Amino acid sequence: MTRLSASGRGSVNVIGAGQCGTLLSIMLARQGFSVDLYERYEDPRVYDAEAGRSINLALAARGINALKQAGIFELVEPLLVPMRGRVVHQLDGSTEFLAYGQAEHEQIYSVTRLGLNKVLLDCAESIDAIRMHFKQAAIGYDAPDRTVHMQNLDDDSLYQVEATPLFAADGAGSIIRRSFDGSDTFGGIETLLRHGYKELWIPPAPDGSFQMRSDALHIWPRGGFMLIALPNPGGDFTLTLFLANEGAQSFASLDTADAIHRFFDEHFPDAAELIPSLPQILMNNPLGVLGTIRCRHWHDQGNVLLIGDSAHAIVPFHGQGMNLAFEDVVLLEQIISRHGDDWPNVFARFESEQLANANAIADMALDNYIEMRDTVRDPKFALRKELAFLLEQRLPDVFIPRYSMVMFHADITYLMAQQRGEIQRALLEEFTADADSIEGVDVDAAEQAARDRLEPIDDIRVNRSSGVSAA
Ligand SMILES: Cc1cc2nc3c(=O)[nH]c(=O)nc-3n(C[C@H](O)[C@H](O)[C@H](O)COP(=O)(O)OP(=O)(O)OC[C@H]3O[C@@H](n4cnc5c(N)ncnc54)[C@H](O)[C@@H]3O)c2cc1C
Repeated sequence: MTRLSASGRGSVNVIGAGQCGTLLSIMLARQGFSVDLYERYEDPRVYDAEAGRSINLALAARGINALKQAGIFELVEPLLVPMRGRVVHQLDGSTEFLAYGQAEHEQIYSVTRLGLNKVLLDCAESIDAIRMHFKQAAIGYDAPDRTVHMQNLDDDSLYQVEATPLFAADGAGSIIRRSFDGSDTFGGIETLLRHGYKELWIPPAPDGSFQMRSDALHIWPRGGFMLIALPNPGGDFTLTLFLANEGAQSFASLDTADAIHRFFDEHFPDAAELIPSLPQILMNNPLGVLGTIRCRHWHDQGNVLLIGDSAHAIVPFHGQGMNLAFEDVVLLEQIISRHGDDWPNVFARFESEQLANANAIADMALDNYIEMRDTVRDPKFALRKELAFLLEQRLPDVFIPRYSMVMFHADITYLMAQQRGEIQRALLEEFTADADSIEGVDVDAAEQAARDRLEPIDDIRVNRSSGVSAA
């Protein structure tokens, strides 16, 4: 029987208390629904499965917009470390700072995954209409019966949960999505990269200060692979090594302490000096998988909606997976505000608006891997960036660099950023083709070309306000 919430709206079930599922539950409760949120792991506020590891994420405009709409950005703000640009570490130890944007506010923020999840869970817990159930795993979805088979991991007992409807926020390996494998319902395709990742760590200096510049994301681009570092509030950095899984230069070949020392001394000597117990940590840390999930559909009529990574996991090179998942929640809230609990209609509208955006950022994230590990070393990269910034200064209503559209403009869709980005890329390549420095570029002609080829930014903005007061 459908349980009614205080506002008279029905009850819904959410699988997965990650970033997406928890923010979604908060939003659904605000919309008057009674929410049961199921998570397979223990409550991370009580027991942290990743204790001792400081995994961090870049939070940008879309994610910030969602947290503001939910009224919880103020609680997240103290956890944030601003990053204004990239510090590129060359092989000879020299470094170059490349700003992400031009305006003061054009920065992204490093935040620990656990810290952010704790704020979201605290907020969900404070809402009467949300019941959180930890150590409860979904083990399969039965489409004809519209039920999820669940297992209580405390006593192994089995029970069922109805799709009234069901929101599957159970991440990239979604058991709900995979229960539909072999049918045409979602048509999900999982494409794995042949590169994986491992995390490392640079501690604070003895006096607690950062050992590298703290207001930047650090990159050591080395062609086929790269190392990156994001600052944490405690003065430390979390590093991620992205490298092929197999082959001559690969995680498989880094199988002894000697091999690891040789590899780091050759490619990342300045970073190697700062990483304690490098070989032990690299060998002991798990190898993460990277991949893209694309679906043709995200909903099973009005019964199930895939959301967040379960619908559209992307590779992390644009730092947008979580930002996209949070954007999903804002968009869904807008649609529910207008169309209520007419779920088949709500889910169809959500898919029709967001699926192309998810595909666009999936592509741009793959592009960015090449840019971060390779193109960023090309002198033309800096020149094109300089020209792009100049055009933005001259034509703020027409030209915004693609990176900025994705990271700093929640009111420009990913699809629009990709489409305009393509036109802009051609323009920047054309006008820098024969130049070695900005003096050699005909900036006036480039400006005129931008005016001719791009429609005004105001014509393409979308409303990404949920329309619900955050109070
Ligand atoms: C190396 C790396 C770096 C990244 N960096 C960034 C970044 O800088 N910026 C950014 O925006 N994004 C980044 N991302 C992507 C981001 O982590 C994800 O997009 C985001 O966490 C997705 O949130 P989610 O809630 O959809 O999924 P998840 O965070 O995966 O949460 C899913 C939840 O469901 C639970 N669950 C799973 N299966 C079941 C089950 N059967 N039953 C019950 N519960 C279940 C899980 O335990 C988990 O709590 C990065 C990803 C990686 C791998």
